[in-house]
Amino acid sequence: MEDREFRRAMGKFATGVTVIATESEGEIHGMTANAFMSLSLEPKLVVISIGEKARILNKIKQSRIFTVNILASEQQELSMIFAGQLKEHREVVFERLDGKPVLPGAVVQIACELSGEHVEGDHTLFIGKVTGIKLEESEPLIFYSGRYRSLIEEPPAAQ
Ligand code: FAD
Ligand code: NAD
Repeated sequence: MEDREFRRAMGKFATGVTVIATESEGEIHGMTANAFMSLSLEPKLVVISIGEKARILNKIKQSRIFTVNILASEQQELSMIFAGQLKEHREVVFERLDGKPVLPGAVVQIACELSGEHVEGDHTLFIGKVTGIKLEESEPLIFYSGRYRSLIEEPPAAQ
């Protein structure tokens, strides 16, 4: 099977978009990711999947903390910044949740401590024990078929 066919197929699974952030040696590093899943309720666990070439991989191993920031519909530019899709460097301001770096304006900020890691193929699954959550009432950014989208509410049916 060709890579292109696999990616095309996986792209049919509509997802939100997150920025994973961590802090090591006093520096905050972020990376755009859509491979994110709720894993367990008791205890509260989430899982993310990070490619072997991503610079954030060793930073999370080192710091043993990460945050997951579910982006709002107007935060497409942040997704592009943290996916390395913009040429020029942009300053991004972070705030703190449970002492960990999170993005202001995210629909949800989730602070985690690393509780496990599993290498599978060319990715590492990081399991995070959730230590803090902050929710905002805003619409999420959507990624589908390799394109950014937003949720559109159907107008109420005419009576
Ligand atoms: P870099 O390439 O070093 O960093 C990414 C970019 O973020 C760079 O441009 C850097 O300048 C910028 N940046 C980092 N920290 C800061 C900061 N503090 N302030 C300002 N800018 C900063 N890859 C996966 O492994 N798993 C996934 O689930 C995944 N999902 C994706 C979903 C989408 C929708 C997209 C578009 C990409 C996804 N990727 C995923 C790919 C991944 O985002 C890119 O390969 C990314 O560039 C790899 O990041 P890196 O850690 O190597 O860091
Ligand atoms: P795309 O069309 O390459 O991706 C569509 C879907 O394929 C993704 O949502 C994901 O489910 C899957 N996918 C893509 N690359 C993958 C990889 N290396 N490992 C595992 N699954 C992968 O989307 P795009 O807009 O062209 O993506 C931009 C860049 O971000 C590409 O370089 C892509 O490889 C990368 N990306 C990586 C992942 C990931 O590592 N899990 C997820 C999404 C995008």
